[in-house]
Amino acid sequence: MVIETNSPEETYRVGINAGELSQAGQVFTLTGDLGTGKTVFTQGLAKGLGIEEPVCSPTFTIVQVYEGGRLPFYHFDVYRIGDVEEMEEVGFDYYLERGGVSLIEWANLIGELLPPKRTEITIEKDLKKGFDYRRITIEDVG
Ligand code: ADP
Ligand code: MG
Repeated sequence: MVIETNSPEETYRVGINAGELSQAGQVFTLTGDLGTGKTVFTQGLAKGLGIEEPVCSPTFTIVQVYEGGRLPFYHFDVYRIGDVEEMEEVGFDYYLERGGVSLIEWANLIGELLPPKRTEITIEKDLKKGFDYRRITIEDVG
């Protein structure tokens, strides 16, 4: 599925929709360059899960846990990861099996650790279509 947006608010809405539809154990992977809107999408997804706490990019921790919504939400941002072994140290596999909803920003950096069944989301810019244009591709694999 491909969705085109032209503002952060629209991308946020796409995230809300994904959050409302998400199921226990679901894993979302987010891929896209810096500043494409991965965190904006994630904030929408958290909202769609009923999480009222503000969601920001976990800069100093790899994972941020939100318990206040319909399902627990595990937000990973692996941008600063040095070595895939760090994921083991934070308990990556353990979180994925806890029946919550997991989302991994920069998932392409830990490709070998991703579960085979996942919802892959890719966000791309296309400057020919305007500065705020984003193409969001959502695909269930596995
Ligand atoms: P990332 O997490 O991918 O690095 P962010 O979500 O932190 O990116 O930032 C995306 C930036 O792009 C924000 O400043 C946002 O306002 C801007 N933006 C402009 N147009 C869009 C759009 N259509 N969708 C999402 N973000 C957009
Ligand atoms: Mg981000």
